[in-house]
Amino acid sequence: METTRTPERVERLAQLFAEGLSTAEIGRRLGLTKNAVIGRLYRSSMTRREPAPKEPPRRNVFEFSGPSCLWPFGHPNDPNFHFCGARPEPGKPYCAEHAAIAYIRPKDQNAA
Ligand SMILES: [Zn+2]
Repeated sequence: METTRTPERVERLAQLFAEGLSTAEIGRRLGLTKNAVIGRLYRSSMTRREPAPKEPPRRNVFEFSGPSCLWPFGHPNDPNFHFCGARPEPGKPYCAEHAAIAYIRPKDQNAA
């Protein structure tokens, strides 16, 4: 009677996966379907691996302890994108400096 669990094979499978092979390629090498490879990888990661450490969250406005200026620096897709973070004006989302920019009213717009 053959055992259905073959730890060596799972080991090999995980090794191939770690080498960067696609699940389809691993399946070809081990004689498994792609879905079987994925299933085994999933199970082995559930039972044998520590959960991946969480990436330290990027500092953004939600992590400031108090209210902070929401003036954005850079493009949101930029890895260096951040908010000003200075103490905002009361009742405003921006610090004094940025509130002055944000709330410029077009003077005499309708004067002419
Ligand atoms: Zn600011």
